[in-house]
Amino acid sequence: MSEPILYCDGEYVPESRARLSPFDLGVQFGDGIYEVVSAWQGMVFRLDDHLQRLTDSLHAARIDTGLDRQAWAQIVCETARRNGLRDAAIKIVVTRGVLPRGNPDPRAAKPSVRAFATPYAHLGSEEQRAKGIRLQIGHQRGMAPDTLDPRYKHTARLQYQLAKIEALDSGYDDVVWLSAQGFVEEAPRSNLFLVKDGVLRTPALGVLHGITRMTFCELAAELSIPVDAGNVTAFDLFVADEVFTCSTSGAALPVREVSGRSIRGTIPGELTQRLNALYWRKREAGWHGTRL
Ligand code: PLP
Repeated sequence: MSEPILYCDGEYVPESRARLSPFDLGVQFGDGIYEVVSAWQGMVFRLDDHLQRLTDSLHAARIDTGLDRQAWAQIVCETARRNGLRDAAIKIVVTRGVLPRGNPDPRAAKPSVRAFATPYAHLGSEEQRAKGIRLQIGHQRGMAPDTLDPRYKHTARLQYQLAKIEALDSGYDDVVWLSAQGFVEEAPRSNLFLVKDGVLRTPALGVLHGITRMTFCELAAELSIPVDAGNVTAFDLFVADEVFTCSTSGAALPVREVSGRSIRGTIPGELTQRLNALYWRKREAGWHGTRL
């Protein structure tokens, strides 16, 4: 198999030549922003929306790469093309970069930009997609928006990793956490939905504005399914008819159990299946697609 090709600060290089300095503030402090875009059958999905989220996060994080939308789009598509991938996850990682020697002012760092593409992969295994995952409500609380707003798609993910490790240690497949006020937020790599009495519900606050979450809200409107973005509690999950997580890596992933309570409906639930089927049908027809 040929070596993966990565985008590294303006150049496309084989993996063995890709470097990131240990002095980079991204390495030292997890000081960076990332984005993950997917391509399916040679079409990148919602590229503009992903780049809007990326450039918003970079702007809010005070990281200026000097790259415009067109340059970002070119990097995403070229990285997939150079790796010969039509079904791909393309990841962009921007770190604050390296400081001039002896200068501790973070504003003086020059950002580093990396992008790489891997074959498209689902977050859940085939069995999990068919039978659902077991989800734990973790004990760690989500980051308060006045500490680090979850809308930053940032690279400082220790909290997320620990929550996931603890869930796996306890025999669960994934974890969701609550806000300081006790409202359900999200999972380490996914947003969350539940269905109750025909209404699709999702937490409104304390979450990354997931592209798949936005897409599912649009698809629900198309299917005349009412959507309620608001407060969700653990109780709401326990008594839901359907629960699923969703992300760029595989769209909806059904949940069969939440912290010891079985979801009582069929798995995957009817609306979960209808939304997922419509998602893939529309993607395969080129909806919101940019050709590689
Ligand atoms: N929430 C978090 C914390 C994430 O890291 C992700 C994806 O990585 C998502 C939600 C889902 O976002 P998207 O649908 O844009 O992949």
